[in-house]
Amino acid sequence: MKYIIVTGGVMSGLGKGISMASIGRILKDHGYKIVPIKIDPYINIDAGTMNPYQHGEVYVLGDGTEVDLDLGHYERFMDVKLGREHNITTGVVYSAVIERERKGEYLGHTVQIIPHVTDEIKARIRKVATKGGADVCLVEIGGTVGDIESMPFLEAVRQMKLEEHENDFLFVHVTLVPFTTLHEQKTKPTQHSVKALRELGLQPDIIVCRGKEALKEDVKEKIAMFCNVSPGAVISAPDTEDIYEVPLLLEKEGIFSYIKERMRLKQLKEDHAWERMVERRKSCDDKKNFIAIVGKYAELEDSYLSIKEAIKHAATELGCKVDTKWVEAEDLKGEKDAHSLFYDVHGILVPGGFGARGAEGKIKAIEYVRENKIPFLGLCFGFQLAVIEAARNVAGLKDANSSELYETPHPVIDLLEEQRKVVKKGGTMRLGDYDVFIRRDTLAEEAYGKKKIVERHRHRYEVNPEYIETLKREGLVFSGTDRTGVRMVILEIPQHPFFFATQFHPEFRSRPNRPSPPFKAFLEACLRVRPI
Ligand code: GLN
Repeated sequence: MKYIIVTGGVMSGLGKGISMASIGRILKDHGYKIVPIKIDPYINIDAGTMNPYQHGEVYVLGDGTEVDLDLGHYERFMDVKLGREHNITTGVVYSAVIERERKGEYLGHTVQIIPHVTDEIKARIRKVATKGGADVCLVEIGGTVGDIESMPFLEAVRQMKLEEHENDFLFVHVTLVPFTTLHEQKTKPTQHSVKALRELGLQPDIIVCRGKEALKEDVKEKIAMFCNVSPGAVISAPDTEDIYEVPLLLEKEGIFSYIKERMRLKQLKEDHAWERMVERRKSCDDKKNFIAIVGKYAELEDSYLSIKEAIKHAATELGCKVDTKWVEAEDLKGEKDAHSLFYDVHGILVPGGFGARGAEGKIKAIEYVRENKIPFLGLCFGFQLAVIEAARNVAGLKDANSSELYETPHPVIDLLEEQRKVVKKGGTMRLGDYDVFIRRDTLAEEAYGKKKIVERHRHRYEVNPEYIETLKREGLVFSGTDRTGVRMVILEIPQHPFFFATQFHPEFRSRPNRPSPPFKAFLEACLRVRPI
């Protein structure tokens, strides 16, 4: 088994996750079976309770684990299916150790960070690495070198390096090379962060240097010299317009040749499908799509990261470019606001969300698209609000609402009895991949081309079964349900050019070379209905 460990220096948000996802993609394209692990040194067990304002979107895995958005990058770039064991947090590690201590399994020893916590970390990494028969296991250690929380993890990988064969272990350090106003590239922050790493007994093999522009040759040499790596192992990773280009850029910089030689990898094969996809994206300029996303965290685009990526995937396939207007839901008050915000867009997307703030604004937006026949895609909360809007303005149930938001005589969106029991037991949401059954002769069937699909979920509330008949009578079509037929999970309005909403989150299963069907159908409708 071979291991590549990715650490970060200088500051967070440098694109460490994308660097690791790109290295994984490169290895995969050369024929290697890879498995990624994300270590999040925070104390939370998982990202389920985290505020998207602080951390960006909560990504959901197939098995329902709520994780950091980097796992979304891994699934998209490496095209792998990940689960709970691929995300190791301090919370997970310490709970396991404490549980074992309570059971007396440490046989009276004092339980310590070294060796007990570090052993637990190593065992978890090795278990995931060997389970699926991968050739290379990639481990990203979240945070920045020097953070208190990441110490036990860095110590664990230091020990692992000694325990594994020298050719089987490689460290990649991602740092920042800032510019001065005089356009000088400064290496000191990189030197300092490598120094911090070396103080912990870790020597990077490869240094990936992020920055606005490509590294100058003499700067590369300087970093190599001061950080004790060979010049070929200093990789320049300047900003790119398109993140999907990063694997190609890193490969051009020689990262694979270096890894291959250092880890004694054989040349297996070369797959160029990714490269072709990136090429296709470059030529997507002629047709332009302009859509609005009406959200609560609209000012923080990272909270809708997977949606942004899913839009890109679909656009690439359709050969179009999409410009997005981020609209803060609370800015929508009346018909006038809706018109001034949306008169020039080709389609409107209302994403997932929680809580009452902004909900009325989103409902206003949905009313506007329904009445003005503008293509609409509603996701999760967006689906629920579309049901509320139709109940109020089409079925005449004036105070229809979701019981998540307000007490109402018409809770058209409500907790099902089954979910109440889950919540009582301390569970939270309906999470992860579930089968969806699709009705014949609907937009959903046209989009998916299948009778049964799998999509990823993250919600508590459902369309209240008591109102389904009333809503159907008013022209709403529920074209997808769960296995039992009790949960309505896709909504469409046939008398509208494209009004489509899903209780699930199709964005999580979208891949650069395999766009999500609802996103593709939505963008197609935008081009068709309001062409430029
Ligand atoms: N708040 C809604 C629910 O819990 C929708 C959740 C979401 O959009 N992810 O059901």
